[in-house]
Amino acid sequence: MIPTFEAVNPVKIIFGSGTFARLDSVLSEAAVRSTVIVTLPYFLSQAEELLKKNKIYSGIFCGIRENPQLADTEKLIDQIRKSDAGAVVAIGGGSVIDGAKFAAALKFADGGAEDYFLRKKPFPARRIPLIAVPTTAGTGSEVTQVSVINRGKEKVTLNDPAFRPYAAIVDSLFTHSLPPKITAITGLDALAHALESVWSKNRTPLTDLYAAESARLIARHLETVLNRPNDADARDGMSYASLLAGLAFAVTKTAAVHACSYPLAELYGLPHGEACALTLSGFIKINNDDRLEKISREAGLGSSAGLAEFVEKIKHKAGLTTSLSGAFPPSLITDAEKHPLSANNPVPVTAELLIELFNSLK
Ligand code: NAD
Repeated sequence: MIPTFEAVNPVKIIFGSGTFARLDSVLSEAAVRSTVIVTLPYFLSQAEELLKKNKIYSGIFCGIRENPQLADTEKLIDQIRKSDAGAVVAIGGGSVIDGAKFAAALKFADGGAEDYFLRKKPFPARRIPLIAVPTTAGTGSEVTQVSVINRGKEKVTLNDPAFRPYAAIVDSLFTHSLPPKITAITGLDALAHALESVWSKNRTPLTDLYAAESARLIARHLETVLNRPNDADARDGMSYASLLAGLAFAVTKTAAVHACSYPLAELYGLPHGEACALTLSGFIKINNDDRLEKISREAGLGSSAGLAEFVEKIKHKAGLTTSLSGAFPPSLITDAEKHPLSANNPVPVTAELLIELFNSLK
C-alpha cells in the first residue's frame, strides 16, 4: 500500500537553460508594474541591462551579503517601500534569495523587521511576489518556505508560507561562473538536502522520488562540473538536482546533518554547505538502511559506503574542510543535540553519538 501523504508546493517553476529570458512575461503575468532587482555584484551588469530595457524594473539592490544580515534586509525593505515596488526579483545564491524573501514578506509590515526576525509577530498576510533566480545549485531556496537570516553571528531559520516565492526561474547558465570551491560546497548542500529527505521521519512517496533522483544526478554530475565548469549538460543536471532536493526537503525538513551544521558554521566560520558536508558521510554511515543502499546502487556508487566515499572525494578535490582541529567546545554537542532538526533523524541523536562522530573528525 502507498502510505497516505499531503503535498503542497505552489511555486511556479520554470526550468531550463536560457529560461531567464521569460522573466518579463512572468512579471506581466503577475500584473506587476514595478520591480526591484536584488542581486550580487557578479551579476550587476545583467541587472543594469534589465533596467535599461524595460520600465518595469525600478531599481537594483546589491547589498545582501553572504549569510544575509538583518540590517541588509532592512535597507532592502526601505528601498522596496520608497519605490513602491510591486515585486522583487532575486538573482543570486541562497543568501540573496533568502534576504529578498524576508524583505518581500515585510513590505506591508507594521513596525520593524526585528520583531519578525525574533518571531514576536506573525508575518503579514499581504506581501509582494518574489521571483527567485538561483545562481548556485545547492539551497533549493527557490521552492522552499524557508529564509535563513543572521543578526551578527546569530543565525535564525524562519519557516513560514510568507516566504514561498511566486515563481522560480531555474536557468543553469547562471551557474557556469561558480568557482570550483563554491560549486562543491553548494553541490554537497543539495546532496545533504536529498539524503536528509530520504531518511527524514516526514518522508513521503513523492519526496522519495525527488530525493533519489536528485542524489543520482549529483553522483553523475558533481565531479564533472568541478573538472569542466562550462559543461552545460552537467551544470543543468546539478541545477535540476538542487531543485528536486529543494522540493523534497521543503516537505520533509532536514535532519541531524543540518542540526550539526548550525553550531559548526558559527564556531568554525564555515559556509553553510561546507558545514553540512563535514558530517554528511558520518551520517550516511549512522543512518544507513536498505533504502540508502538501493539509492547508492542506482546512483552508480555501488553501496552506501561508495556514497560516503563520493562525498569525501569531492571534499578533498575541492579543498573543503575534512577535520576539526583541537578539542571541540561542549556547546557544539549541546547545540546540535537540542536543535529541533535532530528530532527528525531516524537514529536518535545523543551526546554520545555526536562525541564519537566529532572525535572521528579530529
Ligand atoms: P551564497 O548565496 O551565500 O553564495 C556563496 C558565494 O557565491 C557568494 O560569495 C556569492 O556572491 C557567490 N556566487 C553565487 N552565485 C555565483 C555565481 N553564479 N558565480 C559566481 N559567484 C557566485 O551561497 P548558497 O550556498 O547558495 O546560499 C547559502 C545561504 O542559503 C546560507 O545562508 C544558508 O543558510 C541558506 N540556505 C537557505 C535555504 C532555504 O531553503 N532558504 C536552504 C539551504 C541554505
